Order: sequence, then structure tokens, then C-alpha cells
Amino acid sequence: MSNQWDFETRSIHSGFDQDEKNGATAVPIYETASFAYNTAEELADAFQNRKFGYLYSRITNPTVAVLEQRVTALENGRGAVATASGMAAIATVIYALVKPGDEIVSSKSLFGGTMQLFKEIFNSFGVNVIYVDPTDSDAFEKAVTPRTALFFLETIGNPKLDVANFTEIAGIAHKNNIPLVVDSSLTTPYLFEAKRFGANIVIHSASKYISGSGHTIGGVLVDLGNYNWLHARSPLIRESAKKAGDFGFLARCRRQVLQNTGSCQSPFNAYLQCLGLETLALRMEKHCSNALALARSLAEHPRIQSVCYPGLGTHANFEIAQNQFGGKFGGLLTIGLGTQQRCFDFIRRLRVAKNLANLGDAKTVVIHPASTIYCTCSEEEQIAAGVYPDLIRVSVGIESIHDIIDDFDQALAEV
Ligand SMILES: *Cc1c(COP(=O)(O)O)cnc(C)c1O
Repeated sequence: MSNQWDFETRSIHSGFDQDEKNGATAVPIYETASFAYNTAEELADAFQNRKFGYLYSRITNPTVAVLEQRVTALENGRGAVATASGMAAIATVIYALVKPGDEIVSSKSLFGGTMQLFKEIFNSFGVNVIYVDPTDSDAFEKAVTPRTALFFLETIGNPKLDVANFTEIAGIAHKNNIPLVVDSSLTTPYLFEAKRFGANIVIHSASKYISGSGHTIGGVLVDLGNYNWLHARSPLIRESAKKAGDFGFLARCRRQVLQNTGSCQSPFNAYLQCLGLETLALRMEKHCSNALALARSLAEHPRIQSVCYPGLGTHANFEIAQNQFGGKFGGLLTIGLGTQQRCFDFIRRLRVAKNLANLGDAKTVVIHPASTIYCTCSEEEQIAAGVYPDLIRVSVGIESIHDIIDDFDQALAEV
């Protein structure tokens, strides 16, 4: 029944109905490290997978499981693993799929943290990352070698805001038996149906739109159920699939990576993210309509050099974005103000918008990426990621659009 529900219904009812003991309808917070069994035999059964049972909250927890099941339902996936952060979700997926000597073919238009993870961790483990232009599907094909372990892409490059053709790239991945891993943090399952566009694994930073009010850090990885792990390129996954079948990838993520690295989600954060999911559809509508209105207003503004938003007809990937994200374009836009000094002056004068390193918050937030998130990247890496000294990234909130536009206008009038 639940997989026939529409998105909004799934976001409220999937994964939890009501508490059997007391009738609570809000997701109960199981703030416990471990779970007691009456007999040693029962605990042994649970440990040895003869019977399902919660063991220890580093591995599984009932509150975290609701978040996992709800996101699985929203993605029409096979199953999910929630993690301490979006970065932990990305790291878990990559740890699960690669071994030394492997290669990752990745979009070069990447979130700064992901770029740093590749550079500071995976490169030093002997995993090479080949960066390609996400809007050039042929580049993925040309980069494939027998060592390619996965393709990595963001639905909307952050902060370049470029949009790849997922159907084309998924076709190349499929032909070469390479799992396509997509970071959909900027789009959420509400805007991007990852499975429909051929992704095999989707990742969300739940710190962003899923939480929705900038209150928690979290991540989720979802196996979309459309990749045969028994025939995976990775021998480690094939081995896991021999034991866990279709759940071979998820078992490796949970029982090997999560259990050993300890990057688990806390029950309290999972509770807040479940709460966030209940209003995701409503909020995404407002983020998208506010962002489009602000982008249109700024595009006309004489004091702005450039505005980038995939929903503007002038954006190079407008049509592909329109087709892949259901006619909506997300809550992120960037503006170019000519110089870094003008950016700093503008940010100082904003009254409604906050200056902080987050996005997907109910509040409008701005950041100067070159001096913050990308400060450890070389100029070359910054430019590849679309980060220029005069660029400001705006995550448009769900306040009144009149107040947001007025705030930008008053700040621009002074710079
Ligand atoms: C924020 C973000 C991440 C990292 O998520 P955290 O929850 O901050 O660890 C990964 N990818 C994208 C696109 C993001 O915006």
C-alpha cells in the first residue's frame, strides 16, 4: 500500500504508523545505546542474523530506522543507511565500493567537502579521481577504464549550478557495469527521482532541506535497487552479495563500513530529520518559487554583474534541468558582484539573510565560497568548481519573498 501513496503521504506515513504500546504518533526517540534480550540464545540469534533484532545503536536503532525507511520510500529504493552527516554518507558509499588502485570518475563541479574528501583521504589510499565536466556526457565514457569503481555526480553542481544529463550518463554507467552514485542534497527526492533517471545509489545531506531549519547534521545513502550486486565490478561487494543477496551493497555499508568507522546517526537527529521530511514537499515548493522570483529580480538589477540560476531561460542547462526536476529548479542561486570587496560589503549590509556555511535552511543564507568552503582549494580547483572571487552563493529561504527582495535591494544600494 505505502508504495502507492503519493510523495506527500509517504513523507508523513512511511516507516512508522503509531507506537504499538502507547499509541504515540510522533516518531519515538529511542535514545539508548543498546537493546536487552532475555536469553543469551536470542541475542546470539540476532548477532548471527538468524533473526532480526536491534543490537547496538552504532549499527541499527529503531528511530534511525524510521528515517531510513522513510527516505527509502521517498526514493522508491531497496533500502537506506542513515549516517552522522552527508559527508559520512559519501565516505561510506565510497569505502564500500573502492579498493586501492581503483578509479572514481567524478564531476569536477563538486561540493568543497567532497572534493576535500577525495583529495585528503581517498587519494592517499591509492584511489585516483578523474574529474570530468558533468555537462559533457562523452567525457564520462572516455574516462572509463577497467579500474573504474563508480561514477560520482551532483544533481545540481554546488555552487556552479550546472546540471548533467542523467539519462545519458546513466546509460554509459549501465553499459560498463559501473554504479552511478548521485548526490541529490540540493534537489531532495521531491525534485529529483533518482531511480527514474538511472542512478543506482543516491546520497542526501540531511543537514540541508531534509532537516529544513538548519538544526542538525545528518546523511542518508539509498540503494535504489536497480544494480545487480552479484555481478558488481567490486570483488568485495560480490562477496557481500553472496551472503546478503540483493542487500549485498547495503550490508557492506552497514555491517562493514558503518560498524567499523562508527559514523552512525544519532536517534535524536534522526527524529528531527523525520519531522523535517513531513514538510519537505511544502517547503521545497516555496524554496523553488522564492528562488525563481529572487533570481528574476536580481537578473534585472543594474548593480549585479551576473546571476546564475538553473530556472532562468539564460542558463545553459535550463531545459535539461526543467525536464529532470519536474519544472522546478531548487533553492540555490549565485550572484557575481565584480570584486571580492563588493561581496564582503554586500554581505555586511544584509539584514534578513544570514552569513553562514549551510544551505537548505528555512532562513535565507549567503556565503562567499572562495574565502570559506573552498579556501583550501587551489585557484585552479576553485575555477573548476565555478568558484570565483566575486561570487556569492545564496540559499533562498522560505521567508516572504518581498522581504528577501527588499533585503537584497537595500544591501545592493550601498555597494
Ligand atoms: C552539505 C553538502 C554535503 C555534505 O553534507 P554534511 O551533512 O554537511 O556533511 C554534501 N554534498 C552536498 C551537495 C552538500 O551541499
